[in-house]
Amino acid sequence: MSAPSRIAVVGASAAGLSVVEGVRRAGYAGRLTLIGEEQHLPYDRPPLSKQLLAGEWDTERLLLRAPEAITTLDLDLRLGSAAVALDTRAGEISLADGSRVGYDALVVATGTRARRLRGTEGVAGVHVLRTLEDALALREDLAARPHLLVVGGGFVGAEAAAVARGLGCEVTLVTDTAQPMSDALGDDLGAMLRAVHVEHGVRIESGVLVDQVLTADWQATGVRLADGRTIAADAVLVGIGAQPNVEWLTGSGVPVGNGVECDATLYAGSGVWAAGDVASWPHPHTGEPRRIEHRTNAAEQGLAVARNILAGPEHATPFDSVPYVWSDQYDLKVQIYGRTRGADQVRIVEGSLEDRKLVALYGKGGRVCGVAGVNLPRATRTYRNAVAEAVPFEEASVA
Ligand SMILES: Cc1cc2nc3c(=O)[nH]c(=O)nc-3n(C[C@H](O)[C@H](O)[C@H](O)COP(=O)(O)OP(=O)(O)OC[C@H]3O[C@@H](n4cnc5c(N)ncnc54)[C@H](O)[C@@H]3O)c2cc1C
Repeated sequence: MSAPSRIAVVGASAAGLSVVEGVRRAGYAGRLTLIGEEQHLPYDRPPLSKQLLAGEWDTERLLLRAPEAITTLDLDLRLGSAAVALDTRAGEISLADGSRVGYDALVVATGTRARRLRGTEGVAGVHVLRTLEDALALREDLAARPHLLVVGGGFVGAEAAAVARGLGCEVTLVTDTAQPMSDALGDDLGAMLRAVHVEHGVRIESGVLVDQVLTADWQATGVRLADGRTIAADAVLVGIGAQPNVEWLTGSGVPVGNGVECDATLYAGSGVWAAGDVASWPHPHTGEPRRIEHRTNAAEQGLAVARNILAGPEHATPFDSVPYVWSDQYDLKVQIYGRTRGADQVRIVEGSLEDRKLVALYGKGGRVCGVAGVNLPRATRTYRNAVAEAVPFEEASVA
């Protein structure tokens, strides 16, 4: 099949960039449009809760490519204007600025946005952390060394808590899980992380929901917990997860649920593909739909979609990879391959919790589903194949 003469990509971040680079690298010479709601050239989000928040990096360093490298891609680049509607029959995207973009193949790479707590819109001192502007606003508030209350003990909340302590802020972290990051890592590793945070001076309230952000004159003054207690704070960071940006696809016929629902090749039908945080596709072994919010997944899926678009839907190949994510907190580097969430078995196969250096293997239904490492990157990686091949748990976990 011949390549589509016009490819449009909506979402100018990690996944979108990877698509446009992938097709150009493969020699695609047709019209290539990249549409992004943000004003910025594609930038990296993981440092937002790490080096940028800590003041170690400036904003320039976040750019995924130098401006000259973007120029060489010869893009019809539409930054600062969101796609607001899609007509798949006409093959046309409507943008917020009133313009329209025609396409023969479209990639949805619109990612996710931070979930907010109801009633906090417009309240000073309440933050989320998804965009560069979010990170700069939080960094500015942290400069005054406020008492920061972090809602949520996931990756973003735990990382921001660590950075805020490093900047000398008083920090309280409230999580509805038993331990910080215990959703992803299980209770034992979560308890170890809790101990590390407590040693660094973070106060942790676990197993309790935040009911409401308290305000006075539109300024955050603290939170009320579901058990009725209140905690005073000067600033609140809401880190309660993200939701896919799919509303602009309403009425287009593109299947949307928890993200854009694709087949195994990341094709959603009608000339539409998806990549990155927004894409939901069936797990190659179980067939269950999954959506992954990891930086490397976004880049890998972007390249896979680039290949598949050029091959055409009928020759497209399934996307398969071992998901990888990392988290930096204080001097701990946590790395995860595969899916540790929802595991029914966990075993430490190297190192120990006491040493805070370890590799833990996660199993589900008797087979390895993931591996997590703390400060043992090389050893952790050696279990990646066991995850990829879903080998029997007992076989892989024999030290
Ligand atoms: C603070 C933070 C820390 C993180 N740390 C890590 C980490 O340590 N390790 C890791 O693996 N992952 C981490 N992640 C996750 C990682 O950044 C994401 O997986 C990655 O950014 C996903 O890339 P994406 O291109 O799919 O989506 P996104 O990066 O979300 O980009 C989507 C883009 O689409 C744009 N967009 C949305 N709707 C529209 C529209 N209608 N029209 C036009 N444009 C639109 C958005 O503005 C955005 O620019 C972190 C994320 C955050 C926020």
